[in-house]
Amino acid sequence: MKKDLLGNSVFQMAAEQFDRVADFLELDERVRERCKWPKRVITVSLPVTMDDGRTEVFFGHRVQHHLSRGPVKGGLRFHPNVDVGEVAALAMWMNWKCALMGLPFGGGKGGIACDPRAMSLGEQERLTRRFAQEISPFIGPEIDVMAPDVGTNAQHMAWILDTYSTREGRFVPEVITGKPLELQGSQGRNEATGYGVAFLVTQALQKLSLPIEGSSAIVQGFGNVGSHAVATMNRYGIQVRGVSDISGAVWNAQGLDTDALQKHVAHNGGVAGFPGGEAIDSEELLLQRCDVLVPAALERVITQENASKLNCRILAEAANGPTTPCADAIIEERGDIFLIPDVLCNAGGVTVSYFEWVQNLQRFSWTKQEVLSKLENKLNEAFENLLEFCHQRQCGHRLGALATGVDLVAQVKQTRGLFP
Ligand code: NAD
Repeated sequence: MKKDLLGNSVFQMAAEQFDRVADFLELDERVRERCKWPKRVITVSLPVTMDDGRTEVFFGHRVQHHLSRGPVKGGLRFHPNVDVGEVAALAMWMNWKCALMGLPFGGGKGGIACDPRAMSLGEQERLTRRFAQEISPFIGPEIDVMAPDVGTNAQHMAWILDTYSTREGRFVPEVITGKPLELQGSQGRNEATGYGVAFLVTQALQKLSLPIEGSSAIVQGFGNVGSHAVATMNRYGIQVRGVSDISGAVWNAQGLDTDALQKHVAHNGGVAGFPGGEAIDSEELLLQRCDVLVPAALERVITQENASKLNCRILAEAANGPTTPCADAIIEERGDIFLIPDVLCNAGGVTVSYFEWVQNLQRFSWTKQEVLSKLENKLNEAFENLLEFCHQRQCGHRLGALATGVDLVAQVKQTRGLFP
């Protein structure tokens, strides 16, 4: 298993990061081993009847990195490139993220190798329900609570809730988060990740003594996270000049009309062809001058090739793992970019997922204002703690964020001891 996982480039990146952090914390070798490897790696085959009558078998994975601090929490991804190594890496990052944010969860992640864009809604429903059925023995409100990620949304969560609840013979909203409001989803969950990204961007601008209003941003990815980050930054008065997605990229030096862009995407399925800006090469977009660069799409997009050419003051990692270790080293050496590392930057989603779980367990609901203000408090506390830690330990933000998370998990493992 170790060899299989390390054969995957994304897992290797997460493992290398962990090793660096463990060295920094001088973790005891025995605790270090226990922290590094996932507790459960589950793969299920998913036969699905396609619309044309064929039976197609998909593979779905769920990795539960640790259950030492509570149930695992993490998204479910639908993407053609999903494999078990990538899922395990994302689960590991979730683990440090939950600890960094002080949430009573371990990290988990799931994924199904499929292309939802090429599937009908009916095919997606049958695939999602089959996955929920196969994975049911391994999940539950006190074991593993899933949420949306790339390629999935509230509807997919509703199908999982329904499948799990039918199996249990009772309504179990607390088994899943990011679900529709009418199924006891939380106010503010849909926009939580992007909202949190934008909120942290304002905190970072203030630390750099840069004005919030009138500063400029570029965003890669216009899905759940990217679009809400764009909308919230726009409300703060941050001028969004460039946006890309899988269809292409658009640029307007005077700032994009983000409401019009949202309507264009809703109508056309992507940002390409937006009349309120000019087309630009997606790779070139990342190199344009701006105050804030927000990668909000996939992993490994800030690389050895482009890291030295970035022209931003703040790199807000909305996506998981958008910066390769080589690029990370270049950015640290440059010293002119304020990094908001992914484990903190996109933690708004899991934090409001936690709020959703708590509300469900209490059969109680909070207003959107309550949710977002509690979210701001949590993010602000984690952000200030991180800056203080980095100042005291003289380390970069990524190392500081990961070290805070890893240290807490290591302490828990040490205190609980090793059974038997
Ligand atoms: P999504 O599927 O809603 O959107 C993904 C976006 O990325 C789409 O706009 C897509 O067109 C774009 N994209 C894909 N390939 C691209 C490319 N090569 N270049 C430019 N754009 C490209 O996914 P999401 O939920 O917004 O997640 C985005 C990232 O944020 C992922 O890394 C995910 O793990 C992370 N994240 C999501 C959440 C959440 O609450 N949804 C929480 C934490 C982290």
